[in-house]
Amino acid sequence: MNLYDINTVKSVLAKADFSFKKSLGQNFLINGEVCPAMAAAAADDKTGVLEIGPGIGVLTKELSLHAKKVVAVELDERLKNILPVTLNDCANVEVIYGDVLRLDLFKLIKEHFSDCERVAVCANLPYYITSEIVMYLLESRLPLDNITVMVQKEAAERLCAEVGTRKAGAVSVTVSYYAKKEILFEVDKTGFIPTPKVDSAVIRLKILSSPPITVKDEKKFFSFVKAAFAQRRKTLVNSVSNTLKINKESLKKALCTLGLPETVRSEQLSLEELASLCDILN
Ligand code: SAM
Repeated sequence: MNLYDINTVKSVLAKADFSFKKSLGQNFLINGEVCPAMAAAAADDKTGVLEIGPGIGVLTKELSLHAKKVVAVELDERLKNILPVTLNDCANVEVIYGDVLRLDLFKLIKEHFSDCERVAVCANLPYYITSEIVMYLLESRLPLDNITVMVQKEAAERLCAEVGTRKAGAVSVTVSYYAKKEILFEVDKTGFIPTPKVDSAVIRLKILSSPPITVKDEKKFFSFVKAAFAQRRKTLVNSVSNTLKINKESLKKALCTLGLPETVRSEQLSLEELASLCDILN
């Protein structure tokens, strides 16, 4: 069954009386070049792949060809009428119905992928919870090799922004702390049904074995980073003092110790400078 063919997709959906739910971020891929490239970037035949949101299984089928095993987690139980048909020739695929943010993914990985050399996450993510899912996967420190996902183009640029540049935000700092990041390619909005309003991009986050910086207290570092980028139009001093209720004078003194001006904005600091500043304040 060719799931890149719009007429096939329409007929599969019509047979199951399926209508798209915008609230679940349901834009299904029909661009035939995207899934093979994503699957090749995420997996080889020794990789176990966790897919989030298989939809009607277009990426799942491709992952099934590249990976040792695929476990796909889908929230929408209406797809129980479709996935067994579209994936009937994929013996190494299992579909689990549930919310990926509520499942015990450590347990899932242990139960399904203990015979795989590495584990990857590969998905065309539901856009309404893209950052939440990526942050959750990184911060929970799941034993992953890489996260290869399609997200909105703007989200890709934010997630993969270099720390110390204008586009950087708290999520870019988190990504840089846990992974080596790369935007692989862009995908035009016409490659989906229904057609979304914005273009997309595929990013690959290769998980680092250890963070590129050392911080005294990780929890404090991440709440400092969130505070530093919370009020983007303000200086770092104002944003942090407003959000964390830290005295402005101690912040200015800490910046001065690092040779940074007191008017500096958070987006101008490198990862190392953010870490040193947080350590001084603690
Ligand atoms: N992979 C398919 C494709 O590329 O055509 C569908 C991608 S669509 C953008 C996102 C999918 O994620 C939908 O099938 C949606 O039902 C599912 N989804 C939404 N929220 C989810 C959640 N919290 N957990 C698991 N799946 C979810």
